[in-house]
Amino acid sequence: MIPTCIQCGDTYPAARHNLGYATCLDCGDRAARQVRFTVMPAYSKGAYQLVSRADIAHTNPKGTHS
Ligand SMILES: [Zn+2]
Repeated sequence: MIPTCIQCGDTYPAARHNLGYATCLDCGDRAARQVRFTVMPAYSKGAYQLVSRADIAHTNPKGTHS
């Protein structure tokens, strides 16, 4: 089952639909720019997790020594 964008009628990945999106990437991106405030926290949180994970790998070389 391939979900269809409610904005333009294009199909988009089911994984995106599972995240709660009802639009394709293009329309979702456009909407994200319009409602920056609701998107920003989730976005920076994801970026923060990526950074801290890389940080752990870098600062804990002895961690694999147990
Ligand atoms: Zn669309």
